[in-house]
Amino acid sequence: MDKQTLSFQAEVKQILHLVTHSLYSNKEIFLRELVSNASDACDKLRFEALDKPELFEDAPQLEVRIWFDAEKKTMTIRDNGIGMSAEEAVAHLGTIAKSGTREFMAKLEGEQKKDANLIGQFGVGFYSGFIVADRMTVESRRAGLPADQGVRWSSEGTGEFEVEAIERTERGTDVILHLREGEEEFLSAWKLKSIVGKYSDHISLPVLMKKQRWDDEKNEQVTTEEWEPVNKAAALWTRSKSDITDAQYQEFYKQISYDSEAPLAYTHNRVEGRSEYTQLLYVPAKAPFDLWNRDKRGGVKLYVKRVFIMDDAEALMPVYLRFVKGVIDSADLPLNVSRELLQESRDVKAIREGSTKRVLSMLESLADSEDAAERERYANFWKEFGAVVKEGMGEDLQNQERLARLLRFASTTVDEGVSLADYVKRMKDGQEPIYYITADTLAAARNSPQLEIFRKKGIEVLLLTDRVDEWMLSHFYEFDGHPLQSVAKGSFDLGKLQDDEEKKQAEDVATAFKPVLERLKTALKDRAKDVRATSRLVDSPACIVVEEGDMSSHLARMLKQAGQGAPKSMPILEVNPAHALVKRLEGDERFDELAQVIFDQALLAEGGQLDDPAAYVQRINRLLTGA
Ligand code: ADP
Ligand code: MG
Repeated sequence: MDKQTLSFQAEVKQILHLVTHSLYSNKEIFLRELVSNASDACDKLRFEALDKPELFEDAPQLEVRIWFDAEKKTMTIRDNGIGMSAEEAVAHLGTIAKSGTREFMAKLEGEQKKDANLIGQFGVGFYSGFIVADRMTVESRRAGLPADQGVRWSSEGTGEFEVEAIERTERGTDVILHLREGEEEFLSAWKLKSIVGKYSDHISLPVLMKKQRWDDEKNEQVTTEEWEPVNKAAALWTRSKSDITDAQYQEFYKQISYDSEAPLAYTHNRVEGRSEYTQLLYVPAKAPFDLWNRDKRGGVKLYVKRVFIMDDAEALMPVYLRFVKGVIDSADLPLNVSRELLQESRDVKAIREGSTKRVLSMLESLADSEDAAERERYANFWKEFGAVVKEGMGEDLQNQERLARLLRFASTTVDEGVSLADYVKRMKDGQEPIYYITADTLAAARNSPQLEIFRKKGIEVLLLTDRVDEWMLSHFYEFDGHPLQSVAKGSFDLGKLQDDEEKKQAEDVATAFKPVLERLKTALKDRAKDVRATSRLVDSPACIVVEEGDMSSHLARMLKQAGQGAPKSMPILEVNPAHALVKRLEGDERFDELAQVIFDQALLAEGGQLDDPAAYVQRINRLLTGA
């Protein structure tokens, strides 16, 4: 291939612009990124060589070497991993395959702007080299290709890069950084060693640097030709728990997650029995920007006997625990396990079940801790990830009971953090169901007319406002023998909580009110399935309810917003015969007009939208002006 000059993909140009102009703090992470790429390349070689051992050529010992040239102001990171063909160099170093670039940019433009640490999170780590280099040169040959099919890629990190064919005997990749003016601090063995020690200690292959020796004659450190490892090169999870400090666990977490915050909790176990594996799993403290993307690549890496196999949480972790990060290293799976095989493997199933249980116990021990600070941590966890965990209530019926105990809600009694067990403890004598209401926002839930009688009687109601709540409730009906009951569904019956006197009174009122109800039914026949008197209201004239088996109006609205047609079923209007406005209906010549207004208001009060808002405004104005 002749020398070619090619243009970077537009996204890459944007990234490069940001990298070279905005990242000031944590510059040293470029080395972590490049060593991590070198290590990935070795993992890939090891994996491909399972089928084609000849790929190892005559260098089976995988390693990374780092050196620098103080005079030329260059440093080089060399690996003997899989390498790149010319096409791969163009594709992998000229375009970004992954989505998420836009989010990355948005984040960089935000407050965290200057922190280079973010870069690895978005799969653009290679470009971090340009933080300290004004030219990067990559020389590579893909394992298995002949020596004359090497490639040289080179760029100043602006709009373009060059590629040309070169002769290269060694398999693998050299990344050469031509350091910028002012970045000479990286031309120091001590400095580079300390960065490798900080970020790359647990890379499972050796990172080698040239040994330094004190020269008495010159009276300074000189570099020898002898190579020595500068990292531990032992995968952290294979070491015994008692040999690992908390700080090491935390550092490892940062490496695999690119999260700058410490994890909320972690668990490290060697599991023996039906299936043998090691798990090191972390729960992050903060939700990532793409938490809601259910298809995103998982945070749990699969290893088999210390060989990296793949990133794929879905087979190893249920989707509702997609925020969990970590490593699972199996002793039983075949090394050439494919994604398809993973989905079906009984061993993988056992691993997923075991790991799910581990994560749940980790969360339970925070939630139920004697220590208030731990419970506080759980409350924070819930704020970040609670809505995702709720997905598990429908997805993981096997663990539904355990998950139900982890749920936290807002309620009419306590602003947040109410567990179902707390609720049950506070139930009134004779109260059977656990009452809840769903709404778009907490304010709408809290002010909902349906709550009036509950407030009057001091009965607690859970306020559910996560989008996933309705879905969860379609899989979850009772807790500890108490049915979950929507206060906006079905006919109103407080059962034993209402005394006979009250019931009788309500019936009498309803009978006396019958003629008005009949007229309301006629007036609203196109809008309400039924109109009935209720004692669930105290201060409001009317409210909308749906029948027991029907979809709640909140869910119907969400489906509509999502562009999905909801089955059209009319709601029921319940009116409060004791309310002044309702009392006024009888004998008023504007009966029909008032009926429409009462219905519209009931709809508005529960967060619904009017089909014809202009007509509503006109009606109100006519009533106000007495026209
Ligand atoms: P990521 O590592 O998240 O894929 P990077 O920006 O760090 O993103 O690297 C981009 C791609 O360039 C890698 O996915 C890989 O295909 C290729 N690459 C980078 N460094 C090397 C290397 N040392 N050996 C082989 N391929 C590499
Ligand atoms: Mg990378």
